[in-house]
Amino acid sequence: MRRFTGDKLVVATHNHGKLEEFRDLLGPYGVTLSSAADHGLPEPVEDGTTFVENARIKAHAAARATGLPALSDDSGLEIDALGGAPGVYTADWAETPAGRDFVLAMGRAHDELLARGAAQPWVARFCCTLVLAWPDGHDEVFPGTMSGRIVWPGRGDGGHGYDPVFQPDGYDITFGEMERSEKNRISHRADAFAKLVAGCFD
Ligand code: IMP
Repeated sequence: MRRFTGDKLVVATHNHGKLEEFRDLLGPYGVTLSSAADHGLPEPVEDGTTFVENARIKAHAAARATGLPALSDDSGLEIDALGGAPGVYTADWAETPAGRDFVLAMGRAHDELLARGAAQPWVARFCCTLVLAWPDGHDEVFPGTMSGRIVWPGRGDGGHGYDPVFQPDGYDITFGEMERSEKNRISHRADAFAKLVAGCFD
């Protein structure tokens, strides 16, 4: 495992919220974070078929272009009865000409479960893969998961994306009904973050 020893890191994202999330996490380690957008980098084509492949594409593109270590994440929802779909296409299922519509995406997941006659519980997991890549081509990969089930109808208006239809194991509320601080403590992203910090920063 290669440790992070520098003081500058690029977050391979154009999403300001993600940059702030990484700042909160890595601030205590004295690392100055910038985003791919700050460096004027184009968004690479994410044509991988796994979360790891897509996270690697983003991290290596940013590390090569800036000469700095780069951190990326790729996340999504896997539903067992749909063969792991939507998986790496989780955000794509929400795309419409007018922007992303997650009510539509959740409805599609439900429709497909019914169409297949899938027996309940509809077992699913959120996945988040973090990749830290260096300009010399080395990388470290940290997969995180949160297991649960799809519920219908969705409940709660907190969170984002598919949160209202995802009930994590050990809870009788959905991510959409959960306090943000609680979700951030147990989520797939928290799991991957903890592994990243233990592996490369602590
Ligand atoms: P990306 O990782 O930015 O490519 O996006 C992955 C997609 O997965 C997001 O657009 C969300 O729809 C979904 N997703 C990832 N994590 C969560 C979560 O914690 N709650 C709800 N949806 C999520």
